[in-house]
Amino acid sequence: MVFCGVHFMAESADILTGPHQQVILPDLNAGCSMADMANLDDVEQIWDELAEVTDVEAIVPITYVNSAAALKAFVGRNSGAVCTSSNARAVLTWALDLDAPGGGGTLAAASGPWAESPGSGRRANKVLFFPDQHLGRNTGFQLGFGASDMQVIDPRRRLGGLADADVKEATFLLWKGHCSVHQRFRTEHVEAFRSEHPGGVVIVHPECSHEVVEIADQVGSTDYIIRAVSGSPAGAVIAVGTEIHLVDRLARENPDRTVLSLDPLVCPCSTMFRIDLPHLAWVLDGLVAGEVRNRIAVDEATAADARVALERMLAIA
Ligand code: SF4
Repeated sequence: MVFCGVHFMAESADILTGPHQQVILPDLNAGCSMADMANLDDVEQIWDELAEVTDVEAIVPITYVNSAAALKAFVGRNSGAVCTSSNARAVLTWALDLDAPGGGGTLAAASGPWAESPGSGRRANKVLFFPDQHLGRNTGFQLGFGASDMQVIDPRRRLGGLADADVKEATFLLWKGHCSVHQRFRTEHVEAFRSEHPGGVVIVHPECSHEVVEIADQVGSTDYIIRAVSGSPAGAVIAVGTEIHLVDRLARENPDRTVLSLDPLVCPCSTMFRIDLPHLAWVLDGLVAGEVRNRIAVDEATAADARVALERMLAIA
């Protein structure tokens, strides 16, 4: 039995676990507002519109792990991959073949689980990155691309609101999605923390806006933030730009450092916070009574395609 904290994680767990395992989401309303900003209908619509102005065989779709199984399946069917905040750089390097001489060239796909994928070996010159524009943008900058290489796709507008030339010239087509928690951190918060704690360190998650990432001292995934705080010297004062429950946990686990939220008034993630002890107790009571409550099961066709995209990510990482 596997217990998960939000819906997209439960779906991914069901896709990757064996038939003898079942996945439970203690509260079915525990989701991710960012994941909900991209759905299959909108992505397929934009994909079709992109195909009218450019060669979609040269676009690699990349979905952040915070996305529905149907989107991971779309990515799997179209020779793309899933990424996390830890491995986004590696996945984008793979997608654009940046390690190859000349970069931005042929997708290297001679071995690994994607070897038989349709489109392997094609020329790739763009990525369609969803649903979080900020992770895509920040990783693009980290890889040496500039703002002129990136365009934002607004799913509510035809062709994402872009001109044909914008699509043709862009390397990064970034879905207009964001994390409502991380988007709240602003440069003013960094400045206020620095004026109050001149020797302090600012660490932010790459789901924050690029303006904040640019002036932070360190940027990294949840795993990076945990390691950076626990590896800091005693007495360090650290402002962390990520979900408040992780910041509170790091403050409790590191009593000899001062760990603060970058935004003193930050709201918790209301959807993730739905998993609480009463819901966990309720599903455990069900198991004691022989009843599996709130099981998450992805249909096999979707799971098969999504598994391809997840396994590509695992092979790349
Ligand atoms: S903190 Fe942001 S990315 Fe994480 S679950 Fe909440 S809305 Fe989604």
